[in-house]
Amino acid sequence: MGSSGKFFVGGNWKANGTKESVSKLVSGLNSAQFPSEVDVIVAPTFIHLPYVVENIDSRYQVSAQNCWVGRAGAYTGEIAPEQLTDMSVPWVILGHSERRSLLEEGNDFVGAKAANALTHGLKVIACIGETLEQRETGHMYDVLEGQLKGVADNVVNWTDVVVAYEPVWAIGTGKVATPDQAQEVHAFIRKWLAEKVSQEVSAATRIIYGGSVNDQNAAELASKGDVDGFLVGGASLKADAFATICNAR
Ligand code: PGA
Repeated sequence: MGSSGKFFVGGNWKANGTKESVSKLVSGLNSAQFPSEVDVIVAPTFIHLPYVVENIDSRYQVSAQNCWVGRAGAYTGEIAPEQLTDMSVPWVILGHSERRSLLEEGNDFVGAKAANALTHGLKVIACIGETLEQRETGHMYDVLEGQLKGVADNVVNWTDVVVAYEPVWAIGTGKVATPDQAQEVHAFIRKWLAEKVSQEVSAATRIIYGGSVNDQNAAELASKGDVDGFLVGGASLKADAFATICNAR
């Protein structure tokens, strides 16, 4: 059974975009059509956030792709949660696998960042996912459990948390999880939340899928009961494809 929340589609633009391409994408998105009962979030780079906040239609909510683990202060190169809320950015993506692997962000650090972001009024898209090797050697559920525990050990109130299941082998590879594979893991996450956090959190938390989602495969994935939406990378850079994904359910 899926969550009681709205269908959720996030576009993670990663380190993509120039002034020109971002402005084109924003105007494309402003003319896109999708039902009002879908939460649609776009996550540009930090430097494009002010432009997007000011120019994107109010049907969209804006997200950062990361934030600092503490308060604003002497942390060179970082952006603190209260600076994001001050810029009218309500969401942040945390624990993306690219940051976990390239920057060695661990489960506890991601959990601490999530708690800190929530304390400062941000909503959090918390990403988890296994590598192909972990899946093939039978460690998938241990890995996912460790990542979930990192969040659950730190976060008290889950109201503003969305969990993104993003198998690493499916990210940017064109190799999408089958709808059954996604459903199986989403059901596992929902059960874990019910057992380790609470029945209420399990029923209300949106569990979204990410990894090579596009305008061709979104509808079939969205038909699965526990798939409450998507986190989209590559296809979120094309307004038409992204709009199709927003209409997947
Ligand atoms: P992708 O990226 O859609 O390009 O596979 C998804 C993500 O990393 O969030």
